[in-house]
Amino acid sequence: MSYAVTLIPGDGIGPELSEAGRTVLEATGIAFDWDIQQAGEATIATEGTPLPDRVIESIRRNGVAIKGPITTPVGSGFRSVNVGLRQALELYANVRPARSMRGVTSRYEDVDLVIVRENTEDLYAGIEHRVGPDAAESIKIITRAASQRIARYAFEYAVRNGRSKVTAVHKANIMKLSDGLFLESCQQVAAEYEGRIAFEDRIVDNMCMQLVQKPELYDVMVLPNLYGDIVSDLCAGLVGGLGVAPGANIGETAAVFEPVHGSAPKYAGQNRANPTALILSAALMLRHLGETAAASAVEGAVRDVIAEGKTVTYDLGGTAGTREFGETVAARVRAA
Ligand code: NAD
Repeated sequence: MSYAVTLIPGDGIGPELSEAGRTVLEATGIAFDWDIQQAGEATIATEGTPLPDRVIESIRRNGVAIKGPITTPVGSGFRSVNVGLRQALELYANVRPARSMRGVTSRYEDVDLVIVRENTEDLYAGIEHRVGPDAAESIKIITRAASQRIARYAFEYAVRNGRSKVTAVHKANIMKLSDGLFLESCQQVAAEYEGRIAFEDRIVDNMCMQLVQKPELYDVMVLPNLYGDIVSDLCAGLVGGLGVAPGANIGETAAVFEPVHGSAPKYAGQNRANPTALILSAALMLRHLGETAAASAVEGAVRDVIAEGKTVTYDLGGTAGTREFGETVAARVRAA
């Protein structure tokens, strides 16, 4: 049997990272039937959109996708492909684990955090307009249904993965109605898990300070979309930066796995970028498919190669290329 998986190579450094990810996935011995779908800058020229319908249909059909980063023009032009995909496929949970790795320089050695970010609403609902020439308005949408759904996902994630606490992050002291509803929804769901998973809440600014000073106090965090976006980069910084931070976008019927980082255009085509985040995202996909042993083998191989420090990319102090790192990890996976 083989898994049909949509592969979106992406823009900038995306194609080289995806290739490294594919090499490592194939090294597990699991058979994949790759459905390669271009999206992003290239398809704007050829198909008039960065997110052709065929990409969404492919993911709907296969149920899983692995995706390289895609460039989003700032301020004008097309809407983000990433936001578009999440909305079209109702990928409501964005899960970003941040775990320290030996060999990756960072200020802490034992960070082990999981961000669970609501992925469909908040200020990312994309409802904004100009009010005359000198003002603009963005509408923040928070619903009880989406807030309870993400809170439940966070608690279920905690149960499934042997975690002990969920922290809801908000700004309900100022946005009493919208963030207030998010917090109230989390509290309602938390009551169902009382005695099994601990629950607390933090105001987002205080949370940022505490994460920088005492990351060991936190475990699983659940956040509305915008805070989740920002705090997950903060957490990536705690464990050594964007090059090593994986992510998953999960819905009821489809899931898309992608690194937290962007397309880093200045490194495109140079065989320099670190494929760790994409490879660890591929490991999250294996776990999602129920291939737990293969997922652990990939994660272990990445950790070993980075801890040894001999074949690592420039951002981890080495001179290895993207391809070389991918091939070294793949060889470890084969040997596992
Ligand atoms: P970026 O993450 O692409 O790059 C920031 C810096 O981080 C890079 O200059 C580089 O120094 C470093 N970096 C990132 N990934 C790395 C890797 N794998 N290996 C080594 N170093 C790495 O962020 P940006 O410059 O703000 O964004 C570039 C483009 O990517 C933008 O168009 C943005 O919208 C898009 N983006 C896409 C996604 C996505 O597809 N999910 C996510 C974030 C940003």
